Amino acid sequence: MNKLFAWQQEVGQKLMRNHEFRCHALLLKGKKGIGKFIFARFLAKSLLCMQPDVDNAACDKCASCGWFEQHTHPNFALVIPQALSAVLGNHTEYVDNSAREEVDGPTVSDKTKKKPGQQIGVDQIRRLNDLVYLSGHQDGYKIVLIYPAEAMNAAAANALLKKLEEPPEKTFFILVSHQPRRLLATVRSRCQQINMPIPDTDTAVRWLKQQANDSNAAQNMSALLAMTGYAPLSALSFQENIKQHQQFIEQISAVQQFDPLALAELLQNQDLTMTVDWLQKWCYDLASCQATGKVRYHPHLAGRIGVMCQQISQQACLAFINFLNVRQPLSRHPVNGRLFLEEILINYGKLIVSSSCTPDFV
Ligand SMILES: [Zn+2]
Repeated sequence: MNKLFAWQQEVGQKLMRNHEFRCHALLLKGKKGIGKFIFARFLAKSLLCMQPDVDNAACDKCASCGWFEQHTHPNFALVIPQALSAVLGNHTEYVDNSAREEVDGPTVSDKTKKKPGQQIGVDQIRRLNDLVYLSGHQDGYKIVLIYPAEAMNAAAANALLKKLEEPPEKTFFILVSHQPRRLLATVRSRCQQINMPIPDTDTAVRWLKQQANDSNAAQNMSALLAMTGYAPLSALSFQENIKQHQQFIEQISAVQQFDPLALAELLQNQDLTMTVDWLQKWCYDLASCQATGKVRYHPHLAGRIGVMCQQISQQACLAFINFLNVRQPLSRHPVNGRLFLEEILINYGKLIVSSSCTPDFV
């Protein structure tokens, strides 16, 4: 069980030791960034392993484990949105092809420049038919891993439901979800649901420090963890953006010098959804500090936030947060990214000088 995170050992041992699954599908649910996908892969690999160890964990030596790592296992299918194929890299051969056909196929041939799909489409679920309805390699167990399950569109979810209602033999579905409420209730009810654990802060910081390349990086881990909502894997990947984030905070907290158009130009090539997320967390802390004196995401900047929040209107701050919440989903598909960003930052500029006037978005 060495490859599971420390905070997953208990749930891992429970599932792996007995293999006592109550149905043909498992739903691993919990916050984003706590290692659910890695856990699901570990479970799938172990279930497929030909010579599992005493805990039923994968041996890492047999042919099956080799195929699994090379992404060529004939009895395993990974179903993900095309947009995730870049993030998940080599894990995606099986689904990458089907997802790409969905985007570039004849029905949407004029949209070949379309962004990678964020959804799991019905064709991806239908493509599983050969795997789940024919006997698997050496008559073995077949595993389908769907991540994240809430990315399935309505047609895909219904196609999956049919499979869950009449489960194919020797087939096991593992659904992983950050937002299980977005799944069909009928899909959820046909799965054995597992709440995936979140590490306590000490455990998460200890793990992050082990991953750090140098001691300077290790010192920042508590702050990183807070900035990403206490999800350790999100904190680790956030390191890549830490410098940009620091610059961003410098800019948006410099009330007198704040220049929304210059900042929009600076940020125009950065992921828009990430920028909106940063601003949402910053404004959440401003509002929280006003209301309770506490900050959640930027505890290392509590002093600066404390001073700044006294200068802005509480009503305007809450209204701006609502404004951001409405804009946030649009950030994935803006008509014009630069204009979208300028609008948000101009309104933010009005917020931070709002003590004497009422901004437009109130
Ligand atoms: Zn093995």
